[in-house]
Formats: sequence, C-alpha cells, structure tokens
Amino acid sequence: MNEIEYKIYIDSVIRRVETARLKVSDHHIVKIVAISKYSTSDEIEKLYKIGQRAFGENKVQDLKTKSIELEELPLEWHFVGNLQKNKINNLLDINPSLFHALDSLDLAHELQKKLEAKEMTLDALLQINSAKEESKHGVMPEIAKAVYEQIQSECPNINLKGVMSIGAHTEDKEIIKKSFETTYDIYKELKGASICSMGMSGDFELAIECGSNMVRLGSLMFNK
Ligand SMILES: *Cc1c(COP(=O)(O)O)cnc(C)c1O
Repeated sequence: MNEIEYKIYIDSVIRRVETARLKVSDHHIVKIVAISKYSTSDEIEKLYKIGQRAFGENKVQDLKTKSIELEELPLEWHFVGNLQKNKINNLLDINPSLFHALDSLDLAHELQKKLEAKEMTLDALLQINSAKEESKHGVMPEIAKAVYEQIQSECPNINLKGVMSIGAHTEDKEIIKKSFETTYDIYKELKGASICSMGMSGDFELAIECGSNMVRLGSLMFNK
C-alpha cells in the first residue's frame, strides 16, 4: 500500500470505530492506541505520518528500542504488556504515558517503591481478568474494586486512571460481551476513573458498545 491507499484504509478503520461509538452516544469519545508489537519503527512512522500519535508495546525492550529510534517524533507511548518486577526500572526510564497492565497489589507496591526512589509518578490502569482465564493476568473481578482502592491509598506515586481487560478468548460473542460488561460495571463503580481500555482488532466494536473508551488495535492498524 502506498501512503494514499494506507490513509484510505485507516479512514475505514476509523469509520468502524465511529459507527460503534455513535451507537453508545454522540458524546462517547474513543481513543485508538496502535499496538506496534508486530511492526517495525518504519511502519510506525508511516502510520504517524497519516495522523496516529498513540502507540503501544507489550515488551519493555521493544518499547525502549522503538521509542529511542523514533525519539524525534512527538509520539505517545503506552505499555500494555505484563511487567516483570526486574523490568520496572527499565520501564520507568522510558516514562510511558500510560501503563495498562497493573495486575496485582504486589506489583503496585514494588512500583511504588521504585517511583518514590526516582521521584516520579506513573499513570496506570488496573488489569481485570474479567473472563477468569488461567492464561491471563489481572485481578479477579470480585476483588477488583477493593484492590483499586487499596492501590489508591497505599501507592501515592501511581495515578490510577481506570481499568483494562482483554476480551474472553472464545468465538462465542455472548461470552466475550459478558467479559466486557463485567469490566465496565467495575469501571462505573470507581471514583475518578476515566479510562476503560478494552477491545482489540477482533472485538473492538463489541467492546465499544459495552462502554470501552480506549481500544488497542494492532493487526488492524498495521494491516497485518
Ligand atoms: C497485541 C495486543 C493487542 C493488539 O492485538 P491485535 O489483535 O493485533 O489488535 C492489544 N492489547 C494487548 C494487551 C496486546 O498484547
């Protein structure tokens, strides 16, 4: 695809997001984070040139490499992957604009220590394992609100902005929908939360209809 064809293609993706969000309300705004984990810095730059600013990676090392390669561009970097404790300092050195996958109180405490030492703060989302899948990270829905509030009170250097979930891993739309609804219901209960990050290339329209206001699109944005 040349630049014009790519722009037309991205317009069609944006139209799909628009159609889904308008089913919720005129005032329901949805942000697209382009997940670049399968893409090169050149491909990120091509997407930037047609208007995309927010990008996300799921490995600290990849985030580091690409953010350095592209440091001349005014990009907004998100980290959406599982964070191992021994990688916390590496992530903080990159100072991402949002960490989507804070998945335990234990990790929050570890992060708090490192943030305090570096005298910095981090915007983050609590990841909820709404479909209760063993293969997935995140806190269980039953305790999510309590964990969220505990992090808020015990970790002053973490700015919790809301929640993140990955839709249920199944072809059954009803089950996927249930998992999004579970997360959205928790989100609505949280004071001051403004971000509900749900929806990937295969299920973003359903996620938006269930209340998501941030979608993480990888293969779709990069046409893979
Ligand atoms: C890879 C990834 C995405 C994007 O997945 P696609 O199906 O390619 O859109 C979104 N969120 C997370 C956490 C990911 O790891």
